[in-house]
Formats: sequence, C-alpha cells, structure tokens
Amino acid sequence: MHKIIQNLIDIQKKIELSLDTLKINKVPKIIAVSKTFEMDKISPLIEHGHLDFGENKVQEAIEKWSDVKSNNDDIKLHLIGGLQTNKVKLAVKLFDYIHSVDTEKLAKKISNEQQKQKKKIKIFIQVNIGNEQQKSGVNESSVSDLYSYCKSLDLDVVGLMCIPPLEKSSDIFFKKMSTLNKNLNLDELSMGMSADYLDAIKNSATYVRIGSNIFGERS
Ligand SMILES: *Cc1c(COP(=O)(O)O)cnc(C)c1O
Repeated sequence: MHKIIQNLIDIQKKIELSLDTLKINKVPKIIAVSKTFEMDKISPLIEHGHLDFGENKVQEAIEKWSDVKSNNDDIKLHLIGGLQTNKVKLAVKLFDYIHSVDTEKLAKKISNEQQKQKKKIKIFIQVNIGNEQQKSGVNESSVSDLYSYCKSLDLDVVGLMCIPPLEKSSDIFFKKMSTLNKNLNLDELSMGMSADYLDAIKNSATYVRIGSNIFGERS
C-alpha cells in the first residue's frame, strides 16, 4: 500500500482508539493538509476515497485543485490559511470551507461575493486563543460579536477554529475553544494538527487538520 494512505489509516486507527476510550460518538473528520505538496503526492489519497483537503494559499490551491475538483464534486476543499480581501472572489469560487474568518471586513466581503456567485460556503471563525501579537484570529473577547455580525450577513458559520501557541501545550487552549464553541452552540470545531490532534479530539474537535503526519515533512 502507498505510504501516504498507510499514514492516513494509522491516524484513523489512533483516533478510533481514542474515541473509544473517551466514549465520543461523533467521529472527527481529517482534513489532509496538502499545502506545498504536488498533485502526484495527493492523488493516491483521492483514489483511496479521501475527500477533505486543506490548503493555505489561494493561488497555489487554484493551480493544484481547479481541474481535480471539477472532475470530482465530492471533494471538499478547506482554506485554512489567512485570506486577503482581494483574494476573496477566487477563494469563494474554489473552496467549500473557509477556516480563517477573523474580521468584519473579511466577513462582509465573503458575503458580497457569495451573493454574486450564488454560492454558499461554510465558515469557521478563527480565534487567536493564545492572544499572540503576531497571530491572526479574533480575540477571545470579540468572538461573540463577530459571530453575530456574520449571522446578520447570513453567513453559514459552522464553528470556531484555532492554531494554539507553538511552544506551549495545546490542551488548555483547546479546552477554552471547546467552551467558546459550546457557548455559541456551534456544531463544528476545527483544531488539532499533526502534533496535537489527539488532544484536540479529547476537547471535542470535529475537524483535525493534519499535514506532515500524512504527507511527510514539508521542505
Ligand atoms: C500547515 C497547517 C496545518 C498542518 O500542520 P502539520 O503540523 O503539518 O499537521 C494545520 N493547520 C494549519 C492552519 C496549517 O497552516
């Protein structure tokens, strides 16, 4: 079997074991984060039947995915990186999910573009849960305001997303995220990467975003 498929299956097994132990019923989805990898590395996973993929750059995603997606409607493409307002049009056209909505300006632009394209995509609000100066994401204290604003624009907000601080243990940040998500009554929660996806699942993540554990280290 292809190494990349084996990697995905190994992760799925670890997740299953952890769900059994935690008595969690909802199986979290794995977003295979394919940024920087060429389609020849990705296609074995598509042939295996995997459907959720993540990219962090709009232009790179267009080049890699436009054809593949038009040949396979079932593939769900997730934008997990920052989005500049001048790229919103292209992003709305290609992606099924945007995980990085963190300002009213961006929300407004997405809403306008959705109306023009008659397309509705699913939205995660990104939270700067570690309160880091250089990180994107809305501050914890403003999450609920941004959520209300998105709802007023009729955006389909499905949940919150975070990238916790690198150097610290993710667990306490995931706990906070889980509470925020519950307070807003949201169904989905996007958190957990190669190093900490089991911690994320323990704290009720419904989408984990895994790159290097599937595809290998990025150069
Ligand atoms: C690259 C990236 C990931 C995947 O990271 P790995 O550590 O390779 O699993 C997940 N989420 C975001 C937002 C990323 O940019």
